[in-house]
Amino acid sequence: MTKAAASHLLPVFARADLAFESGEGAWLVGTDGERYLDFTSGVAVNALGHCHPHLVEALQAQATKLWHMSNLFKSPDGERLAARLCEQSFADFVFFANSGAEAMECVIKVTRKYHAAKGHPERYRIITFEGAFHGRTLATLAATGSPKYLDGFGPPMDGFDQVPLGDIEAVKKAIGPDTAGILIEPLQGEGGVRSPPHAFFRALRQLCDENGLLLAFDEVQTGMGRTGDLFAYKRIGVTPDVMSLAKALGGGFPIGACLATAEAASGMTPGSHGSTFGGNPLAVAAANAVLDVMLKPGFFERTQKMSLLLKQKLASVVDRHPDVLSDVRGEGLLIGLKAVVPSGDLVAALRDEKLLTVGAGENVVRFLPPLIVSEAEIEESVQRLEQACVKLSAAAAKKETAQ
Ligand SMILES: *Cc1c(COP(=O)(O)O)cnc(C)c1O
Repeated sequence: MTKAAASHLLPVFARADLAFESGEGAWLVGTDGERYLDFTSGVAVNALGHCHPHLVEALQAQATKLWHMSNLFKSPDGERLAARLCEQSFADFVFFANSGAEAMECVIKVTRKYHAAKGHPERYRIITFEGAFHGRTLATLAATGSPKYLDGFGPPMDGFDQVPLGDIEAVKKAIGPDTAGILIEPLQGEGGVRSPPHAFFRALRQLCDENGLLLAFDEVQTGMGRTGDLFAYKRIGVTPDVMSLAKALGGGFPIGACLATAEAASGMTPGSHGSTFGGNPLAVAAANAVLDVMLKPGFFERTQKMSLLLKQKLASVVDRHPDVLSDVRGEGLLIGLKAVVPSGDLVAALRDEKLLTVGAGENVVRFLPPLIVSEAEIEESVQRLEQACVKLSAAAAKKETAQ
């Protein structure tokens, strides 16, 4: 048999024909020598941009001391990170994992174990929402519930009941004697930058309180400043019992976390969960450095200011090009542009203008600049979008006359 593949990377990604050598702030240098404005931030990961000096220094310092320690021993820096996350949130306990999906696995396990430890192991089902994305492990895929990701991998894991987003009557109907909790993203990222009104989250909180359910937020994408505060739940004004973090937590170093109140975590005892790499010293050093920067006074005010500026400027481009774009949505610097043309065409046209963006559901293109983006970079991105729209309009008009 001949080895046919040119690449030996498992072909599960439709990769753009581009690679990068280095990055600084919001900019990437391609192997083609070109400079690209990076509004993907590694899909909401590099919240402080590329090679932030404080993160580089923290990781370099840690690299000369200890790379890895097992969880058989104490973790002073992990303790400090957990304490800081708890101080900034509703939580009393933190479990560190290595990715968003793993953080979500812990959220699911905490939610189930809570009821089991109270003598109700039959209460294991979790209500989730259409358009959700919770990860690619078998449990988080089942929670995600999208046939496009589940197909071919056997029966989806049992225990998830999906209802339409924003439909409180459907949630009420789905609650039964075996329901353990409700799981929701404060703002759906992959699903197309969409969220129900704040009143819906308040209604979920009330339903959870009335029925003894845990409310779980997936803040893997929205957490760590992306929506204009450290956690999105603060802006919504509804506090969950359990929450996941990951993407921006390590500023580019893989780390995830599950945060829970003491009550929600009451079922978790020694041996009930674990991870070899979770809370690794390198990951913890990176995350502590991210918090150093984000917790400086004024950091989120600045993010919110940039958000407003970007949204206003994008709205004016939408007004000028109704044949290409129809809507601006989102919070903070998790911004979605709903496209009229296929969103993939828009992402490609923007890439031609050396502006990198990310597609999402509902024909939306995500603008995810690093939170440290400057006004000048926002202006630059909007000019590049304008250029791409002019070209896409011309191409569409040409196609029309040809028909
Ligand atoms: C990215 C994402 C995940 C999965 O994170 P991985 O690190 O890819 O496992 C889960 N939930 C949400 C909301 C996400 O955006």
